[in-house]
Amino acid sequence: MEKRLIKKDALAGIAKKMAGDIPVWAPVKEEDNVFFKPLQNDVEPFFAYLNSKNAPKNVFFPHTEMLLKYTRTEKGFVFAAGENKTGEAVLFGVRPCDAHSFVLLDKLFDQEKYKDGYYVDKRQKTTVITLACSEPPYATCFCTSVDGEPVSSEGADILITAIGGDCLVEFVTPKGEKLIKYFGENKADAAADAKKNEVASKAKAAIKSKIPAHEVKPILDNNFEHPFWNTIHARCLACGTCTYLCPTCHCFDISDEVKGADGVRIRSWDSCMFPLFTKETSGHNPRPSQKERWRQRTMHKFKYYVDNFNSIACVGCGRCVINCPVNIDIRKVVEDISKL
Ligand code: SF4
Ligand code: SF4
Repeated sequence: MEKRLIKKDALAGIAKKMAGDIPVWAPVKEEDNVFFKPLQNDVEPFFAYLNSKNAPKNVFFPHTEMLLKYTRTEKGFVFAAGENKTGEAVLFGVRPCDAHSFVLLDKLFDQEKYKDGYYVDKRQKTTVITLACSEPPYATCFCTSVDGEPVSSEGADILITAIGGDCLVEFVTPKGEKLIKYFGENKADAAADAKKNEVASKAKAAIKSKIPAHEVKPILDNNFEHPFWNTIHARCLACGTCTYLCPTCHCFDISDEVKGADGVRIRSWDSCMFPLFTKETSGHNPRPSQKERWRQRTMHKFKYYVDNFNSIACVGCGRCVINCPVNIDIRKVVEDISKL
């Protein structure tokens, strides 16, 4: 594997230089929050962050996306491709939990039998540059309980790890190697590897929040009707914040917008926390209250995804814990289930 050593303070310059040649998405500071945004001339990347407010999954799976457009003519409908942004891009400075989420989303959107061309196209054309977590994490980070690590190359094409005033840059995949020219000629030696291993061990030990994520699947298998499901949801506002910020949530709705003879078909994010999500045309709703919706969210992450893809659909980023307006904590939910 090719490796380079760069100065830590050179990172922003490298991202901007790259953005001169290829569209680059990077973390950008706005007031107290950090968002992934396309880098433009007057936009500075910000890499001294713990995690971004939004998950960068929207680069592959946008909030709204035109799937196709059509016109009604006398001879029938004429269809055309939607106006999607395609082409090579770079996602620069993603945290390892979010890069892990891409691997989980691939399992759904890029199956051998079923492929979501809109997602797969953007995913395949985008190079993921992961920025390892070497600083003390948020108290809400629990990646190590859900098969992740703060220094991990899973889902990355390039892994950058800060080791003191330098960064070790590892080119994990051939796609990552194509960007090697931006990182100079200074080859990393064994001493840099040793420092990285030290940083990785310390970072792993710094994740103090642990949940019994792997223990709850057999309990969920047998407790769909357990009275426990009456205990979580009472204060849930059904705002959908937890699902919209989650890097692994992927529910969507498809709607047609028609004006005269012209129409567009649009895919938009949706949320299992919303009452309308499962409401049928007849008016019947198979998930009539927030109780059933919270059960679905828990089951989807810790049972159904394990059944279907042998993976837990949570990467331990803690966004839902930090941002839920009524402090519902998925870590406590999992902890409580493990004791049923
Ligand atoms: S469920 Fe919460 S902690 Fe887990 S990946 Fe989603 S937002 Fe992050
Ligand atoms: S963020 Fe909290 S209040 Fe909003 S839907 Fe999720 S659990 Fe309910």
